[in-house]
Amino acid sequence: MTQTVRTRIAPSPTGDPHVGTAYIALFNLCFAKQHQGQFILRIEDTDQVRSTRESEEDILASLRWLGLDWDEGPDIGGPHGPYRQSERSEIYQEYAQQLVREGKAFYCFRTPEELEVIRQARQAQGLNPGIKGDLELPEAEVAARLERGDPHVIRLKVPDEGVCVIQDRLRGAIEIEWSQVDCQVLMKSDGLPTYHLANVVDDHLMQITHVIRGEEWISSAPKHQLLYEYFGWEMPELCHMPLLRNPDKSKLSKRKNPTGIHFYKRFGILPEALLNYLGRMGWSMPDEQEKFTLPEMIGHFDINRVSLGGPVFDVEKLKWLNGQWLKESLSEEEFLRRFLEWGPGEQGWKPVITHLQSRVEAFSDVIPMAGFLFSGYLPVTAEQFAEGRLDEETRKKVLQFTLWELEAQREWSKDQLFASVKALAQWMEIKMGDFMHPLFVSIAGTPNSWSVFDSMVLLGPDMSRARLRSALELLGGVSKKGLKRLEKELAQKDQPSE
Ligand code: GLU
Repeated sequence: MTQTVRTRIAPSPTGDPHVGTAYIALFNLCFAKQHQGQFILRIEDTDQVRSTRESEEDILASLRWLGLDWDEGPDIGGPHGPYRQSERSEIYQEYAQQLVREGKAFYCFRTPEELEVIRQARQAQGLNPGIKGDLELPEAEVAARLERGDPHVIRLKVPDEGVCVIQDRLRGAIEIEWSQVDCQVLMKSDGLPTYHLANVVDDHLMQITHVIRGEEWISSAPKHQLLYEYFGWEMPELCHMPLLRNPDKSKLSKRKNPTGIHFYKRFGILPEALLNYLGRMGWSMPDEQEKFTLPEMIGHFDINRVSLGGPVFDVEKLKWLNGQWLKESLSEEEFLRRFLEWGPGEQGWKPVITHLQSRVEAFSDVIPMAGFLFSGYLPVTAEQFAEGRLDEETRKKVLQFTLWELEAQREWSKDQLFASVKALAQWMEIKMGDFMHPLFVSIAGTPNSWSVFDSMVLLGPDMSRARLRSALELLGGVSKKGLKRLEKELAQKDQPSE
């Protein structure tokens, strides 16, 4: 009997649902379904500080919105649960202990400072700075220190030299020198596993047969392969997918492009069109047909046809494809239904009423006043920006600096946004009123609107940043050299003053 194909997507719930997650999920789903197999969703929330339940729910809802349904997962259960790593701590403890007992892992009591000294000493000797097994202490000392309750981690023993060969379905043999590989921490001092241990143990226990994931994980593969070997388990087949890229070929990042699934939903992209577009990232239908459904993709799927040249995620192309879906695939009735489904509805309008009520004189003012909240990019002009009191140079600087502040923002709340922008204006010695003008025009399309910070909260991070970026572009952008200079300038802001 041949083994049932089982693939998985294993997101870490540490932020907004990312199009890259949907892309990898899609290829895993297609591969599993093409082989009449199963597709599993597992939540990798071992990073207690950064993981949130809210993000997990958001990721699940976004994948569902796209129609990427899983056969087993934290919300629907399944025979290999729990599917949330934070609920599996004991399992990892057991396996880590087994490795220690078998001499394949060891306790490490070094502090980060001590490790830094060791790294530097190794480097000075011309050795690879990797943390190696020579950190191991004599057994009696380990026992004494454990007894004393000294903080410790458990590390994987990794060969000092030689070459590790990884087989990748798309890339063939990949060679990585063991000297480059650290004795990876498997269990952290808080008693929780690291990604590497939890990932391998779970893929094994959940009977995953194929690991299809982004190429950023290639460097982890030697550690994973070693773990499989140590445990005596069969390793799933590896397949590292090419990373999504910005149109300038750099790695897709929110600094250049909206990366959140929410952004595209709010933009009015149909889930089937987004999925279709993601299916074209590095892959194409045998007949090169551009528009296809998920069942059609599954029907023709062949992972060997994934091309490794970095696929470009281009919002303009996505919009074009979405346009094809809207024109060709929906009857007028369906168009109306889907549009109404997409539109703000009662829930969407609710938070806006407080801003509207004191400003309108008739309901007919509502749409012109609030329309910007439900639009994509705004049709603003350079003349509108010129109406403010700042000169051209400063205006661009304000937009660029604010954009960077927004990119660094961890908490998207009105108070936080206001505090960062105010600090920026003070540091630049620009009156708040003057500073805000280009922000108003970029975000709301007019200086006559309610607080920009309220609007930013309503629009969300991706859309707010996209509007600032598009304003900068409209104003002619900042040259690469100019950006470097500005970056340096901004770095001074956070230096303590004398
Ligand atoms: N938790 C990892 C992530 O966030 C999973 C990587 C993998 O698929 O092994 O992408």
